[in-house]
Amino acid sequence: MKYHKIPDETIRRLPIYLRGLLLSSEQGRQSISSRNLADFVGVNSWQIRKDFSYFGDFGTRGVGYNVEKLTKQIKKILKLDAAPKVALVGVGNLGSAVLAYPAFRICGFDIAAAFDINPKKIGKKINNIVVEDASKLRTLKKRRINLAIITVPRDAAQQTADALVKAGVRGILNFSPCYIVVPKKVKVITIDIAMDLARLPYYMPAS
Ligand code: ATP
Repeated sequence: MKYHKIPDETIRRLPIYLRGLLLSSEQGRQSISSRNLADFVGVNSWQIRKDFSYFGDFGTRGVGYNVEKLTKQIKKILKLDAAPKVALVGVGNLGSAVLAYPAFRICGFDIAAAFDINPKKIGKKINNIVVEDASKLRTLKKRRINLAIITVPRDAAQQTADALVKAGVRGILNFSPCYIVVPKKVKVITIDIAMDLARLPYYMPAS
């Protein structure tokens, strides 16, 4: 079953719902109302009901949503059900912090490889992952790793992306503060915390 008609905005919220559902499951809940989930994740309950209506009816009036079923369905839509393997390139300060970030596991990600060009870092173990020489990026295809995180400096980001694409990577989370160009078949999401901070003062009420 394909879910072509799910809007991007809904897809953006699905991981947030997933986290809420996983946490409520940890607390022993088997069902959850849209209102409870709304309180949990900070999204309006009508928005939640609308988002879920795109992929089926999981709610029972008066009982709420079945946590297990809904969790499975969201994981399936996001293609998270197979514990996707991820590679990280650039094990500097930011890269090391990302490697140690525990929340990736909540969504089922397995950070399976890390690469760098610095000989002092290659061979070192960081968060249980041995840093490999970046010249070995081409091994990713054979290892069935098609997701990657880029944490190299700006001037190395494009060449890193090119090497990743050549190695079969189809999804890139880019932390380098720059725009990178990739073929259409590859999806890039750039996270630039400085740019996010830069738009925050605009929204601040005058004191
Ligand atoms: P450090 O000073 O420990 O290197 P840093 O976070 O200040 O940390 P950056 O200059 O931001 O370092 O670089 C991040 C990491 O990216 C470094 O570990 C660097 O060796 C690595 N790096 C730089 N160019 C490449 C590249 N082309 N491929 C892979 N890794 C790279």
